[in-house]
Amino acid sequence: MPPPNTPEEGLISTTTLALRPLVQGESVSPVVDLRALEYESEIDENLICPICRLPLVSPMITNCDHVFCQKCIVQAHNLNPVCPVDRLPLKLVDETRTAPKIIHNQLDNLLVRCPNQSHGCSLIVARSLVENHVTRYCDKTLVPCPHPSCDKTVTRRDSGKGCLHYNVKCEYCEHTYEKADLEDHQDNQCTNRKKSCELCETEYVRHKQDEHVKECPEAEISCKFAPFGCTSQIKRKSLSEHARLCEYRVVGPVGEQMAELRAELKALQEKDQLKERRIKFLENKGFSVPTTNTSEGIADISLPENTAPTDPAPYESRDQYFLSLFETVEAKVERLSSALNEVEGRHSVMLFNETLPIKDQLTEIRSTLGVLGMHVRWLMNFRLQERGRVGTSTPNMSGSLVGTQDNNNDPTLSRHLSDTIREHPPRL
Ligand SMILES: [Zn+2]
Ligand SMILES: [Zn+2]
Ligand SMILES: [Zn+2]
Ligand SMILES: [Zn+2]
Ligand SMILES: [Zn+2]
Ligand SMILES: [Zn+2]
Ligand SMILES: [Zn+2]
Repeated sequence: MPPPNTPEEGLISTTTLALRPLVQGESVSPVVDLRALEYESEIDENLICPICRLPLVSPMITNCDHVFCQKCIVQAHNLNPVCPVDRLPLKLVDETRTAPKIIHNQLDNLLVRCPNQSHGCSLIVARSLVENHVTRYCDKTLVPCPHPSCDKTVTRRDSGKGCLHYNVKCEYCEHTYEKADLEDHQDNQCTNRKKSCELCETEYVRHKQDEHVKECPEAEISCKFAPFGCTSQIKRKSLSEHARLCEYRVVGPVGEQMAELRAELKALQEKDQLKERRIKFLENKGFSVPTTNTSEGIADISLPENTAPTDPAPYESRDQYFLSLFETVEAKVERLSSALNEVEGRHSVMLFNETLPIKDQLTEIRSTLGVLGMHVRWLMNFRLQERGRVGTSTPNMSGSLVGTQDNNNDPTLSRHLSDTIREHPPRL
């Protein structure tokens, strides 16, 4: 029995395909049937399955070097266990394997049309990406209606507009359609959808009148030099001809340049304003607090109040602003350090003044102590001499006592002693 050349998968219509993402419990099988796609690339004969005559899907290669779609070879093998090309006996499990990578790559790169083409998607994309496009991005893929109690479908693009499953009358043919289908009807099916332009007499879809007006060659539009004074209304088709003859064409380039310059100026002004605002922000919020603190700190150590506030004049750039700020701070630091020097000098003078009388008193105390010591020694000698005269001491002792007595009887010493006592009476 010959293998079927047209498997039923090949007959699936694009409409069914677009609905397939919604079918539950079919997650295993691919959403997009690659066999039903419309191919844009020219397809190499080697990439066509000999069974289904379509570009290969999941290609398998046999030991006899023939390549088939996986599904095709399985189906054919079930009917007749031979290679469908050369009719040699074929063991499906042992003698077939996945086709080489290069074949997969070539197939992946084939360009196909989005299966939602009939719904208005005109995308052409590599075959390997089409499923991703349909399931995730295509505006025309049908998704469940967002209304919870509505079980119909809408295109992904309309899914954000609420339930569109209510009837409306087509304004062109007076028939009633669901709102969700109206646009498609007016674009493609409505018997009265076409209208011929009153100006250029070409037919256009009524629904897209606005688009035609923008390109109708007979529509009158204003000259491109209108901003510079040309008041002519010219048909779109003769616009370039008019531009060549327009009296304002000389003014045009100058005017354009002026407009450019004006735009540049405006941009610069905006920039300037932005910078000024930023500077004000920095002055008010960022740096005002430390500034007052510094001046207070200086006031504490009684520095003359000459801390000038930061010049509020606008600066040309942020860098310049920071530079000036830095200079101000530097000047403040200088003033602060000179104030510190002054304070230090004052302190050392004060210290000197305070310690000088103490030093004097110390010398006085020392001299008084010396005088007292002499008094004590004189008194002790006096006592010893008195004891010696009484004669209780040994001759050896008396000999030494005589020596000391001689010493004490020195007239210069006694005079000196009395002088010292008179001059510095002991205060302690
Ligand atoms: Zn095939
Ligand atoms: Zn073969
Ligand atoms: Zn699409
Ligand atoms: Zn709905
Ligand atoms: Zn209609
Ligand atoms: Zn027209
Ligand atoms: Zn003109």
